[in-house]
Amino acid sequence: MTNVLLSPWETPFDLPPFDRIDDEDFAPALETALIEHNAEVAAIVANPEEPDFENTIAALEGSGAALEKVLAPFFALAGADATPRRQELQRQFSPKLAKHFADISANAALYQRIRAVWDRRDDLDLDEADARQLFLVHRGYVRSGAALTGAQADRMKQIKERLAVLGTEFTQNLLKDESDWSMDLAEADLEGLPDFLVDAARAAGEEKGKDGPVITLSRSLIVPFLQFSPRRELREVAWRAWVSRGAFGGETDNRAIAAEILALREERAKLLGYDNFAGYKLETEMAGEPAAVRNLLMEVWEPAKRQALADQEVLSAMAAEDGVNGPIEGWDWRYYAEKRRKAEHDLDEAALKPYFQLDKMIEAAFDCANRLFGLEFKPLEIASYHPDVRVWEATRNGEHVAIFLGDYFARGTKRSGAWCSAIRSQAVRPREQAPVVVNVCNFAKPPKGRAALLSYDDARTLFHEFGHALHQMLSDVRWEGVSGTSVARDFVELPSQLYEHWLEVPEVLEKFAVHVDTGEPMPKAMLDKVLGAANFDMGFQTVEYVASALVDLEFHDGAAPADPMAKQAEVLEALGMPRAIPMRHATPQFAHVFSGDGYSSGYYSYMWSEVMDADAFAAFEEAGGAFDPDVAKSLEENILSMGGSVEAAELYERFRGRLPGVEALLKGRGLAA
Ligand SMILES: [Zn+2]
Repeated sequence: MTNVLLSPWETPFDLPPFDRIDDEDFAPALETALIEHNAEVAAIVANPEEPDFENTIAALEGSGAALEKVLAPFFALAGADATPRRQELQRQFSPKLAKHFADISANAALYQRIRAVWDRRDDLDLDEADARQLFLVHRGYVRSGAALTGAQADRMKQIKERLAVLGTEFTQNLLKDESDWSMDLAEADLEGLPDFLVDAARAAGEEKGKDGPVITLSRSLIVPFLQFSPRRELREVAWRAWVSRGAFGGETDNRAIAAEILALREERAKLLGYDNFAGYKLETEMAGEPAAVRNLLMEVWEPAKRQALADQEVLSAMAAEDGVNGPIEGWDWRYYAEKRRKAEHDLDEAALKPYFQLDKMIEAAFDCANRLFGLEFKPLEIASYHPDVRVWEATRNGEHVAIFLGDYFARGTKRSGAWCSAIRSQAVRPREQAPVVVNVCNFAKPPKGRAALLSYDDARTLFHEFGHALHQMLSDVRWEGVSGTSVARDFVELPSQLYEHWLEVPEVLEKFAVHVDTGEPMPKAMLDKVLGAANFDMGFQTVEYVASALVDLEFHDGAAPADPMAKQAEVLEALGMPRAIPMRHATPQFAHVFSGDGYSSGYYSYMWSEVMDADAFAAFEEAGGAFDPDVAKSLEENILSMGGSVEAAELYERFRGRLPGVEALLKGRGLAA
């Protein structure tokens, strides 16, 4: 019998036939698909004809179709419905896939063909889309080290392997420090703590086999403890442990690992011909070079510091009333900020919740997409990979655009967080296909027969992920490799963060934030509070973030520091870091930077995207409204439909007529002078 994963699916919209796929189909299908992919690559290499765009670049993009067909449904399940069997399969598949793709990118004969096409690029008469495809494929191979030979190629392989080991060690050490450390609390120490925190501390105590409640260094315990505990001496003990994790000395200490990682990254960049790792890393980003990142961060730094120091005055005065002498310390900030928040912006979550119904928020996201881009969403009665998954067809003027899946509720088999992924990406080549996009969230499932209610943060998440989904659904490019969200890391959050702004448009909340029982719109005073609370303590939040981003940048822009802790101290000293604010992630805990390469020299990208989303939304406001049709059309034509088919900076300039400035971000964060 043929494997269902490898046969034609013959389903509506060619959706994966989840009801017919058995978990035991995956492993044999993967084996077959890997062999097929290797054979396709071997055939490209063995082609006796002179390498050209079609027989090399297009053929390479066209290879691996069976593999894609197996992996798309598998990864959908592995993220959102990971039963123990599927987890086991994923553990088997990960190293196999890593090796498979590493072997292809290190295939010297294949690289020679790509190089031959690249060298003749000016004679090939390629149009913009094909030229871009050639450029990206060639650059990807060169950056992975395919052009290196002999001892250099061997050294590159060693460095990559060593970096993978060090990244894993860094992560595991950090986890160990976070789970090993704990502070016992006596019953009297629970005074002032909210119920949810008391429950969590008791549960943590039980898990550790203690008699009473404990505070651990898990973010969900330590942060609320620092916010709510009136016991200053306990806050100090907990805070000192929190900011020192990864640097307790002994076997789990991450400081030497960080130094070795930085040195290896520098060596890797130099082998590839770059001055340093930041130069290598930023080459493919919208920022392009370290100076652009530094300039942006410094433009935000001074206003943020000014605001943080002003807030510090207010909080210190509050602390003085409690008998604290002198300026507040790191272990005081969250406690007094929480007191201040309650006094100035208290939002009663319980009173707010009935106004944020899941179904109404989905309707709101769809309605905005309709007003902006003319999309219509029709629910389909199609079973997907789990009974909770809802399926819609997106159309425009009656034409099919995409299939959109919404998988909103938390369950034990779903990993935490929220994300958007494409089960199939829009493309014309190698195969013409319409997108199938899924948004996965972790909202609490209501009891049977009751409406699902969200927090305001949940509603933001829904809009955020739907913004990514629009980037996929409205994609209109030739090559699958640049489709939808296949863009630079510092550009990918633009559509998602931008879409969050429509949730804050008063007319949207007035229409869709209606009470679950009465259907009444949210009272004006409550609406103002919701919108006003967004900027609270932004000085602190911006300072702790920007300091981390600048330390990350300076680690990689120049010679690798032999002592990263000394380098960190030097950078903070030069910035004039406010003493009561620690970095959001100090070096020994900076998993974004040291657990892997993803955000190394790239931690800035959250703020880079925020600068753009604030600036891009301002384009609507300047044009006369959140639903201005001309700006919406330009957003689709220049950004949402373009994927990575053109450089991000060029796309942004086409949309806005210029590159983004930080003014709108400072205004949005309440930091403008
Ligand atoms: Zn996102």
